[in-house]
Amino acid sequence: MQALYNPITQNQTGMLQGIVDRCREQEADELCHYINLKRKVKVERKPELIGAVVITPAGYRCNLACDYCFNRAGSSKSNPAVMNQELLERVIQQVLSTSENPEFIWHGGEPLLAGMDFYKNALRLQEKYGLPLTQARNAIQTNGTLLDESWAAFLKENHFEIGLSLDGPEKLHDAQRKYPSRQGSFRQVMQAVANLNREKKSFGIAATITGEKLCSPEELPAFFIGHRFFRISINPALNRSGLTVSAYAEYMCRLFDAWLNSNEPELQISLFDGLFRAFRKMPLNICWWNGHCPRIIRIDQAGDVWPCCDRYLPYTQYKLGNIRQKNLQEILTGVIYSNFRENFANLPLRCISCKWSHICKGGCAYHRIINGQGEDGGDHLCEAYKQIFHYIFSSFAGLL
Ligand code: SF4
Ligand code: SF4
Ligand code: SF4
Repeated sequence: MQALYNPITQNQTGMLQGIVDRCREQEADELCHYINLKRKVKVERKPELIGAVVITPAGYRCNLACDYCFNRAGSSKSNPAVMNQELLERVIQQVLSTSENPEFIWHGGEPLLAGMDFYKNALRLQEKYGLPLTQARNAIQTNGTLLDESWAAFLKENHFEIGLSLDGPEKLHDAQRKYPSRQGSFRQVMQAVANLNREKKSFGIAATITGEKLCSPEELPAFFIGHRFFRISINPALNRSGLTVSAYAEYMCRLFDAWLNSNEPELQISLFDGLFRAFRKMPLNICWWNGHCPRIIRIDQAGDVWPCCDRYLPYTQYKLGNIRQKNLQEILTGVIYSNFRENFANLPLRCISCKWSHICKGGCAYHRIINGQGEDGGDHLCEAYKQIFHYIFSSFAGLL
């Protein structure tokens, strides 16, 4: 691995201080936001069974065919193309009867395929069931290729958080994120960026990495800063791209150095920000290190309810039920979900003596399952996390 334990430069020290200052400001903002929310939400106190619901209104359908997409495995011709209005109403009514102010995360496939009228109706229904627009928390994760001027205006006007899938520079993005014709989608995503910028609408970037064949980790910060992309989450396409756990660890350690050398403390890379927060005992913003997994569920266009995300699809033992057949409260307090919550509330055996368990907490529930050792096995990125934690904290602990 390159660049292990390089001496820390003055610039890096300044960058670290800038990051700490930004995290402190964000923490103060988050606290204010939370207090204001509690003041505003006058609805009767609910049990808060979930913190967020991921809804896939157009199921796994997508206008792209990215090389590493795991959604294709979930495509089913028997499901409706778009969640119907009756089911949407039931979903919103049920979700808001179990939790006071959960985040609604609209996901896919490609969620814009559901059409703008679908989301107008969703907002109307949130209001109908006690969540006015000013208090509703809606987020959408899109590949951006359909995000034209009218979508940009709509998402801005209705306060949606936006996550845009963009892997990096054009040659990298176009090699991975393609239309079925195999043409790359970079140009269309950058048009979405222009449309959002015109509306002065902020957004985050979700970048999937497959290794450094087409772009080294050292190139990424400059690309993001050059385009004024400041909120980045990096997702490894393990098992779908040839990227190994150790190559991912090396990539992230080098990206960490490149990030520090960028001298731009406003550039947030979610994994590194999460580590800074963990080290400074601030609330974490990453579900897999936060022990919050059991508070995120997913409902698809057929009404099936799952933990978290569609990657659970092959594991039918984790399907929690169907919201058309049962009340959500009943599903969330049923045996399958109770067992799931219980299993993932406990640290896996291998994590009990791990010195990083106060940060990692056994990691992502789904990653524990695909690790092949069930709930006892630990995150399948375990060895990468250990390497990344060790690298960052050995190098910089004195300064954090
Ligand atoms: S944009 Fe997302 S859902 Fe669509 S093909 Fe690519 S990875 Fe899959
Ligand atoms: S399965 Fe993993 S990614 Fe999904 S909510 Fe749980 S911890 Fe987060
Ligand atoms: S780093 Fe590995 S052993 Fe340690 S807590 Fe995380 S998954 Fe468990």
